[in-house]
Amino acid sequence: MKKPIDVEKAYKEANALLEGHFLLASGNHSSRYLQSAKVLEYPQKAALLTDALASMIRAYGMHVDTVCAPALGGVLAGYELARSLGVRSIFVEKKEGGMELRRGFEIAKGEKVIICEDIITTGGSALKAAHAIEALGAEVVAFASLANRGFCKRFGSPKEAKKECMLPLNIPLFSLDDFTFEMYLPEECPLCKEGSVAIKPGSKS
Ligand code: ZN
Repeated sequence: MKKPIDVEKAYKEANALLEGHFLLASGNHSSRYLQSAKVLEYPQKAALLTDALASMIRAYGMHVDTVCAPALGGVLAGYELARSLGVRSIFVEKKEGGMELRRGFEIAKGEKVIICEDIITTGGSALKAAHAIEALGAEVVAFASLANRGFCKRFGSPKEAKKECMLPLNIPLFSLDDFTFEMYLPEECPLCKEGSVAIKPGSKS
């Protein structure tokens, strides 16, 4: 399948594809990091990405009522995707052991929902979001993300899911591209061995 948009170029142009030595949320180290907040900084550019994602979803031919994002990371991407699809946008928030719908958001029985993240790594947060709204009667028809870190199978990609992927294999994942860069256990990290120190990018800097 031809790439609908060059998502790597979009991340690079937004200085959102960082290169260095990073400590990831999982505890692993990596020489690259995707800072999606930067690629979503300009709504007009964000819309180009979510319009492309919406085109893939429309081409698949599925009916969608609502986009639901896990907060905080998925909210901007989810909101823009909802705009591109012309449907409503809601989000779920972290609670002990999972996620929940708050703020008066409601779900109807049988409502068809896409769970949208900025990046899908192993899909853990997306899966918790799916469980939260399925418990309220929603039907999760797809997962979506701007980029896929290469653990889960992206619809249209020949690459199979790896064992780390937590998303169900019978529900499609729509994503603009695969970003399959290496992650290292701290004790095996070649960057640490060269003497540099991993920094934690993202929300606290
Ligand atoms: Zn390291």
